[in-house]
Amino acid sequence: MPQYQAVKGARDIFPEESAQWKYVEGVIHTVASLYGFSEIRTPVFEYTELFQRGIGSTTDIVGKEMFSFLPDPNGRSITLRPEMTAGVMRAALQKNILSAAPVHKLYYIGELFRKERPQAGRQRQFSQFGAELLGVSTPAAVAEVITLMMQVFESLGLRNLRLRINSLGDSDDRFRYREALKTYFAPFHDRLDDSSKERLEKNPLRILDSKNPAIQEIVAGAPRLYDYLSVASVEDFEKVLYYLQERGITYEIDHRLVRGLDYYCHTAFEVTSSELGAQDAIGGGGRYDGLARELGSSSEVPASGFAAGMERVLLTMEKQGLFAALTPQGPVVYVVLQQAELADHGMQVAWRLRKAGIRTEIDLAARSMKAQMRDANRMRASWALFIGSAEVTTGLYAFKNLVTSEQTTLSLEAVLETLHETASGELQK
Ligand code: AMP
Repeated sequence: MPQYQAVKGARDIFPEESAQWKYVEGVIHTVASLYGFSEIRTPVFEYTELFQRGIGSTTDIVGKEMFSFLPDPNGRSITLRPEMTAGVMRAALQKNILSAAPVHKLYYIGELFRKERPQAGRQRQFSQFGAELLGVSTPAAVAEVITLMMQVFESLGLRNLRLRINSLGDSDDRFRYREALKTYFAPFHDRLDDSSKERLEKNPLRILDSKNPAIQEIVAGAPRLYDYLSVASVEDFEKVLYYLQERGITYEIDHRLVRGLDYYCHTAFEVTSSELGAQDAIGGGGRYDGLARELGSSSEVPASGFAAGMERVLLTMEKQGLFAALTPQGPVVYVVLQQAELADHGMQVAWRLRKAGIRTEIDLAARSMKAQMRDANRMRASWALFIGSAEVTTGLYAFKNLVTSEQTTLSLEAVLETLHETASGELQK
């Protein structure tokens, strides 16, 4: 085994796989632009307090999963971003973009870092794509965010996804519900695990999130948040659902789906993939009108968004055979050297073709002509351009169409003309 390995929970992406990433990223860029979302790129690290405020100190992420460090002995702690929303909101507030234009539709693709126990579908460095719609959070805006996410999944061809959705109401609704939960859980206090006891004190809604089967059993009989929603909150939720129905987006209402932080409100949603085993969440999001205030903004910024895991999207696509049609782009021309001594001339020809925008390959390892031709076929090159000593003197090259096997003798200018005549220099294969 080599001495150095990638850090546990981080992985390399080799060319075959990076082609899949590029394809998925391309679909994300295309669909985002259909909905009028523009890309934002924020720093990979932020001051630690941003995440403490922006995600909440009672969450697992902030409690135990952040990679934080001091850049210098007297500096402020900084943290590798464990999610994107806080950074995007920070950027929007810092640049004060909402005062110039009240609505901003932003999307991103980026790396995140969480100190979780690595397992299938769970890494310490992973990527998400997502969108944040800032400045308006009407049901139409929230439905737009969900629809955008679902259209990306659909455009990628993903099947067997489950969209679950719930309403968290407004802060008054949740206040009443929290009291009801406290009353409900009180008689079970001795049966609660430590983290649920702590959640009962700080934020009882988060007990509903517990993965502990013993707690889930108790949770099963708990009152439903839905029954504590005001008429206006129910109407808001119904309107979001109406838009989804109109668009043929199938969903299930899940009364246990919560986002346990105070600045989340109204609609929350999550998408799971039956292909993924234990870590089956592929994306999720919701409305977070209270976040900007939490980050020090003097006024509320209505907002909603989603984040989806790139690796899990790719894993699902792999399992569903959705990459089968992805063939790598081969070279248009393979420059074949009849003798190794002609390499310098060949390099010059290859350079001229590349400068003219033609994907060109040339052997750099002085291999036999047979090996070069094998390479050209393996790479599915469209043409071979032969360099022999005669060619070097006359400036006329044997130029072979590798699909039809027709061969002509042409100057380099004529080669370029031929290539530009065939659609973007490529043969119809
Ligand atoms: P979250 O920000 O926790 O709501 O996660 C949003 C999505 O990111 C999830 O649905 C997953 O698809 C993905 N995700 C979260 N944590 C990880 C991780 N450690 N490794 C890989 N993907 C993750």
